[in-house]
Formats: sequence, C-alpha cells, structure tokens
Amino acid sequence: MSSLVTIAVVLRVVNYGESDRIVTLFGRDTGRLSALARGARKSQRRFAGGLSLCSVGSAAMRERPGAELATLERFDATESHAALGADVARMAHAAYAAELVSKLCAPRQVEPAVFDWLTAFLRLLEDEGASAERLRVFEIGLLSHLGFGPVLASCAVCNGDSFGARAAADVGFRWDPDRGGAVCTACARGGRPLQPAVREALIRLAGTPLAAARAGALPVDVNRDCREALLEIINHHVTGPLKSVEFIAKLAAGPGGGA
Ligand SMILES: [Zn+2]
Repeated sequence: MSSLVTIAVVLRVVNYGESDRIVTLFGRDTGRLSALARGARKSQRRFAGGLSLCSVGSAAMRERPGAELATLERFDATESHAALGADVARMAHAAYAAELVSKLCAPRQVEPAVFDWLTAFLRLLEDEGASAERLRVFEIGLLSHLGFGPVLASCAVCNGDSFGARAAADVGFRWDPDRGGAVCTACARGGRPLQPAVREALIRLAGTPLAAARAGALPVDVNRDCREALLEIINHHVTGPLKSVEFIAKLAAGPGGGA
C-alpha cells in the first residue's frame, strides 16, 4: 500500500453498493484516477464538504500496486462550488468541463496546467455565471494544454505564412480536424468551409485569458460555428459520445443562446 495526497477536483461521483461511492478525481499531482470512498453515503466526517461534482479539495488516498481502484480515505473540500448548482447553465458548463477533462486525459496522466485551467474556469463560472465565450476559451485552452490545439493562424499542411490575417479573406480556408485545423484551399482535400470571421474568432479565443472572456463578445452564429469546429477537434480525441454536450446544445438553442 502506498499513500497519495493531492489537491484534486471531483470529476464524477457514482453510488456503489449501499453505503459507498466511487469517485473520479483529477489530482494536480496524480492526474485522473478513480477511488472507492467507503461509507461516503453515510458518513460525512471523512469527506468534509461532501464529494460533489466539481468540488476541489485535498484528497488522501491509499493504493495497492496493480489495483484498479484506490481507496479514498479523506477528502477535505477547500472550494465546494455549491453555487454551481444554483442555475442550470452553470451546472451544465461545469459538468461539460469535468467531462472534457475526464475524457481527454488518460488515467494517471499528470497535467498540472490542465488542473489549474479547470479550477480557474470553475471559480469564474461560480462567480460570474455561464458565458458561451468563456466556454469556448476553456475548450480551446484545454486542447492547447494537451497538445491538441488546432492550427489556426497558418495552414496546418503547408504552414504557409502568406495566409496572414490580411490575406485570409482572399485565400480561404477549410476546416479539417483530421489534418489539424485550418487548411488553405490549395492544400485542402476534404473538410468544410471555414468562414474568415470564425477563423478570426478562434484565433482571438485562443489568445484570450479565461478571466478576460466576456459574455456577448461573439455573435451568436459565430459562437455556434466556433463551438462546432472545436467539438470536431474534441471528438477526434475522445472515444464514445460526450454525455453533457447534448444538454449544452439544448441550452444554446434556448433564449440568449448562452452556450
Ligand atoms: Zn496549405
């Protein structure tokens, strides 16, 4: 048995048996791992603040070599993010962010920059509410931190630097996730048209800090196209459907299009 202590985000909680829970954690020092929280449905004492989705805290675990599940001995929440449950949009964005990190990061793949990105996003989401622009910044930043960031500023195939911002309108790009992002029309073999306004928005989003993302900065149709383009990149790297994405799409179709 070895002991592990890390600051961690709760990515998923499922009930197990009559009194236990299985918790998927994303530890800053451990990456993603699953742990059995014995008695978590009955005793709050060892899991102060509760093991709820997206709560952040100090996790103490023990693990046996070769065992699939660690044992969660304590979880002391430092940020319970209880207010994320206050409205449906906040909750949807939080669940989606947690699912993305869970699906894009392999088990035990240590990614401190991703941990910091996710926890900063959750803090802003709780304090300032759900914003489609910030969700786009989160998605594109997450992809970049994991080395999956789409090529946007030049052609992903020829890397042509003659396709700068000024030339973009004339040259034209297609969006081809199989080949890494934006591909100039001369190199394009597939993909679909990428509107200059969408490419420009993606370039801008990629350079925007989470805290600087402002609601209403993107026209609704540009946001929608950016969302679809990023989702294609994301789907390229995950297996199976993203459960929370349908919910997000329904929110986007509703009043305000806030997703
Ligand atoms: Zn090219």
